[in-house]
Amino acid sequence: MDRAIVGTSASPGIVLGPVHLLRWEVPDVPHLIIPDEDVDREIARFQDAVARARERLQSVKDRAERHAGPEEAAIFEVQITILADAELHTRVESYIRQNLGAEKAFDLVLLEWRQQFAKSPSPLMRVRVGDLTDVHIRVLSVLLGLPDHDPVDVPKGANAILVTHDLTPSLTVQLDREAIAGIATDSGTRTSHVAILARSLGLPAVVGLRDATSRLRGDEYVVLDGSSGILVVNPSAAEIDTFRNRAVAEAQTEAELFKAAGQDAITTDGVRITVRANVDLPDEAEQASHSGAEGVGLMRTEFLVVGRATMPDEEEQYRAYRRVVEAFGGRPVVIRTFDVGGDKLPVGGFPSEPNPFLGWRAIRMCLDQPEIFKVQLRALLRAALHGDVRIMLPLIITVDEVRETRRLLAECAQELEARGCAFQHAVPLGIMVETPAAVIGADAYVDDVAFFSIGTNDLVQYTLAVDRGNANLAGRFTPLHPSVLRLIRRTVEVGAEHDLDVSVCGEMASQPLMAFALIGLGLRTLSVNPRSVPLVKRIVRGLSVSFAVEAAEAAMQARTAVEAERQLKYRLLAAFGDAAVLRDSVL
Ligand code: PEP
Ligand code: MG
Repeated sequence: MDRAIVGTSASPGIVLGPVHLLRWEVPDVPHLIIPDEDVDREIARFQDAVARARERLQSVKDRAERHAGPEEAAIFEVQITILADAELHTRVESYIRQNLGAEKAFDLVLLEWRQQFAKSPSPLMRVRVGDLTDVHIRVLSVLLGLPDHDPVDVPKGANAILVTHDLTPSLTVQLDREAIAGIATDSGTRTSHVAILARSLGLPAVVGLRDATSRLRGDEYVVLDGSSGILVVNPSAAEIDTFRNRAVAEAQTEAELFKAAGQDAITTDGVRITVRANVDLPDEAEQASHSGAEGVGLMRTEFLVVGRATMPDEEEQYRAYRRVVEAFGGRPVVIRTFDVGGDKLPVGGFPSEPNPFLGWRAIRMCLDQPEIFKVQLRALLRAALHGDVRIMLPLIITVDEVRETRRLLAECAQELEARGCAFQHAVPLGIMVETPAAVIGADAYVDDVAFFSIGTNDLVQYTLAVDRGNANLAGRFTPLHPSVLRLIRRTVEVGAEHDLDVSVCGEMASQPLMAFALIGLGLRTLSVNPRSVPLVKRIVRGLSVSFAVEAAEAAMQARTAVEAERQLKYRLLAAFGDAAVLRDSVL
């Protein structure tokens, strides 16, 4: 099929629909010099473009508000404020008076501002870089007469496939599931922000297509196959039939699996595996609680701040956490403190640091801004009154970070007490093990933490030095690399020696072959995306731990990821044959 564009499977499901192409990039601008007599007219043209961009933003905001909510749509208010900024107008008009065309004048000012904001020591300023970029694109598009394709324009029921380079916060809040049926992006990998978000929204997605936005014109129909990671352009009737049949088969398999989702996951040799869900949006909680999940193994709180102009206050956070906790009625809920920065928003739009993945993010950012961090900690202590909450810290590299957090937690408890506000005093505190430093030094934490949760998405990235979001490196991002397997094994051993719970909440746990390896490495708790809960439980019920141990040993002794995968694959296939449960999964 030469009309197939191959990417990476990010969120399962097969959908057919018209392409909604969005080239959300700063356009090239001609360097136009204008004569003196045209200056006034050019200034008027600039002002007119700003007025039109403002009108457009207002209507995008109104519509986003209706399906995403006022807090989320606030991002557009910020952009409207930028457009009204007096200094922006003075600077652009001054360039026009120096005989630059309106496009170039505006382009220069926005480039300067974006650079200045990106270098700012204040995170609140750096957050604005994404908004400036959006404004940059929007006004230039008006001046250059380029079409605008805001996803909010897609009518309900259109079943459109959004094809774009990357999903920015302002695009994310425009996603109306009644209009958009699937997402396809040039950038990203299975573990990048866009893939995680698509899975949470239950939208089929293919990422890492590299050049889909330049290969498509925007008037095509496509089949998006989120399970195998391809986009088929203008499919023939026969191809559509094939995909429809596959979609039906997938849905049947899923329905079969779902029927048994409530059963315990016990291996054939009687070992119980706890399967929990990863929850990224409070809206997902109720549905996830019916997936058969035995609690939440990871709630990613950074999605609460996507696209927001301001951080959610304590009350709003408390309500969001409480909603998840209550949905799971007493089952454990592990809530991770803000993991922003890197590929995680809101410090973005474009990277504001030369090495964002090694940069000022996650626990580092939180500890450096205790006033912001403590709002979250207080909300967590309060939400813990309503169930079994556990707090988890991301990107830990030293036990000092845990101790400093404990000190802040104690301060928060005092503050709540002074306010007469009810809260839970003893909330277990655990860490994500997702850096080689945390694995190799795991024994240094055992007296200070209640549990370890292995974040394989980052652990693979930092161990192999492979950027998890870079589509060009997708083939090199190999969680089954023997070095990674050995690090996981070591973490399990330290946990066992000190009677600490160890789980895995990275994407590895959601994939049958890798879940098999993890059980063989000694894991007894896995946290997976809610849709994979029934599948992972089914896999567990079909295998024995002794068999998994033998497979994992062989994989750890392999010299390469390919060889490790082979060792695991033939054994898993021996246990399941070509059973339907494995057919569509990533094997
Ligand atoms: C991980 O790193 O594996 C993880 C679960 O966290 P995130 O994907 O949010 O970085
Ligand atoms: Mg991580």
